[in-house]
Amino acid sequence: MLVSVFRNSTGAQSSPIMPGGGATPGTPSAKLKEKSMIRPKVVVALYNYKAIETGDLSLEKNAEYEVIDDSQEHWWKVRDNHGNTGFIPSNYVKEKELIGLQQYEWYVHDMSRQRSESLLKHEDKEGCFVVRNSSTKGLYTLSLYTKVPHPHVKHYHIKQNSRAEFYLSEKHCCSSIPDLINYHKHNSGGLASRLKTSPCDRPAPATAGLSHDKWEIDPHELMLHDELGSGQFGVVRRGKWRGSIDVAVKMMKEGTMSEDDFIEEAKVMTKLQHTNLVQLYGVCSKNRPIFIVTEYMRHGSLLNYLRKHEQSLSSNQGLLLDMCIQICKGMAYLERHNYIHRDLAARNCLVGSENIVKVADFGLARYVLDDQYTSSGGTKFPIKWAPPEVLNYTRFSSKSDIWAYGVLMWEVFTCGKMPYGRLKNTEVVERVQKGIILEKPKGCYKEVFDIMRKCWSPSPEQRPSFRNLKDQLVNVSQGILVD
Ligand code: ADP
Repeated sequence: MLVSVFRNSTGAQSSPIMPGGGATPGTPSAKLKEKSMIRPKVVVALYNYKAIETGDLSLEKNAEYEVIDDSQEHWWKVRDNHGNTGFIPSNYVKEKELIGLQQYEWYVHDMSRQRSESLLKHEDKEGCFVVRNSSTKGLYTLSLYTKVPHPHVKHYHIKQNSRAEFYLSEKHCCSSIPDLINYHKHNSGGLASRLKTSPCDRPAPATAGLSHDKWEIDPHELMLHDELGSGQFGVVRRGKWRGSIDVAVKMMKEGTMSEDDFIEEAKVMTKLQHTNLVQLYGVCSKNRPIFIVTEYMRHGSLLNYLRKHEQSLSSNQGLLLDMCIQICKGMAYLERHNYIHRDLAARNCLVGSENIVKVADFGLARYVLDDQYTSSGGTKFPIKWAPPEVLNYTRFSSKSDIWAYGVLMWEVFTCGKMPYGRLKNTEVVERVQKGIILEKPKGCYKEVFDIMRKCWSPSPEQRPSFRNLKDQLVNVSQGILVD
């Protein structure tokens, strides 16, 4: 059923409007007045989107669309200004009245200081800049790349004076941030360089499924390329769907998972969507082996990434902390949706472009048939990431994910060392039962290690939630690093 969605000018769901003339609600004249005063919800495209499936509609960046049906979370039906209608991914648009800075190429939203530095260094252009939310709520920071006297990124808080004007240097105040940026495009005005360009062609986010209500994927529409790796369940290959969307295809070894149950669950899992979760696009369930099709992450597993870049990463505690914060955000989303990961570890996180880190394989452990993996006595069971209540009673919860998250933080801050070194599983269990935990990684801030230790509280109730942990990590990063 299509529901026409109308909103009032504040963006809130419209309520009957009683004009001063006092028309009685419900009467034809009141209805007429209501109709003339309420406006349809209009959204602006933040990215281009190419409709591939029939029933979908292409989006052109910055163009406006009228929303016809937003009753489903991830795919909305809209009308373009030629009168064409169709479904579009809701994370590709923003309500016109709320768009604010998001319409500008240079605004990167809540990108961290560390990720903005990597992005600008990668662009390597004098005067390249972005504006991002600063870690202090409500404030913005300008990050600017200059090669003088050597390549580096400078960060400037955008401040406001008593007249609510914005400025970077007190001598040049403007009534809005876009005006201020425009001013500094023509005058360096005290900055290390004039603002010249901002990174373009930034990747668009993954959509929840490859189209509206689509989770079953036709294998003939997948072009399979090189092997990305292989794991517990089989081989993972890079691929393209309908020649245009990059995907990763996990070909499940037959007999390794309870397939029918998983296929049912996949319908729910395609609807889980967060910047820090690897998006499940769908499954090819009609043939054997079944394929699991997900978002493609160009730098592969976090564990390998940490080990490969140990030299540069170990001296950049800020970047390591930022990776942990990203993972924590993804996990906070799962926690909010009462979804337990059950196998959180660096090997199950992936790294994409612009240093984005995402959690993968959430919930998959429930469908594994191999006893060696599912029973805590099994050789493949992730003992080193398990809290006492899992070791003793196989009791999984968001709090057992928290314990695993602490171990994952430890993996990040050691750049991919094996927790408990070469200790055998039985020895690890003994230690954990006695309350002996992992040691502080070399060079790791005490404040960061204190957070890991909270994750390893013997009693699940005493461990923080991911939501709470996220705030603690952000506070620590503000305390030890300058924004
Ligand atoms: P399994 O779950 O079977 O153990 P993994 O999910 O660990 O398999 O995948 C094996 C390897 O394949 C990973 O270590 C990673 O290098 C690569 N890989 C898996 N998924 C992706 C993806 N979405 N994008 C890029 N590489 C991936």
